[in-house]
Amino acid sequence: MDFKVLDATAFYAGVPFRSHVNYYTTSLIFDEIKHIQNNYEILQTLVKIKRIIIMDPEQSYCYQTILAAEKTGDIDVLSKEDISAIALCLNLHGELITDDFAIINVSNYLGINTKSIMTTGITHNRKCLYYCPGCNRQSTSKICVICGTKSKKKIILSRGVGQSNQQKNHRIV
Ligand SMILES: [Zn+2]
Repeated sequence: MDFKVLDATAFYAGVPFRSHVNYYTTSLIFDEIKHIQNNYEILQTLVKIKRIIIMDPEQSYCYQTILAAEKTGDIDVLSKEDISAIALCLNLHGELITDDFAIINVSNYLGINTKSIMTTGITHNRKCLYYCPGCNRQSTSKICVICGTKSKKKIILSRGVGQSNQQKNHRIV
């Protein structure tokens, strides 16, 4: 059996709503996406019928992922949600569905197969921004220049304005 694991970018792109495959994700990812999605009831149904299976990785896989991200230099841009998705994939020997550049990088380092959302033919445009959770404004660096808080990632979704793959590399350094 092959396990397909979804990260947040896959949910924002609507992957679980367009397929009849069973997907795995972590409780951290599910918490992150359920507030932003308009599809809350559909998500609940997909969980109920086990199309989406929420499962958390064993701690040792989280440590392994963190160590790998430190080695690849991606640790600063990965959220704990991102780390949980990679760790679950490692745990299940699954395939990770994501368009997040840093997640792909760390996954490659760990020998995890990744599949791009672009290859699923979904035409939503996603744009990754950083913002400061301290002063709640857009940030252009990993650490907020105003208050010194670590910046967080935010994914902006827009529909059907053609393809703009230039946005794929979300890292603003
Ligand atoms: Zn700030």
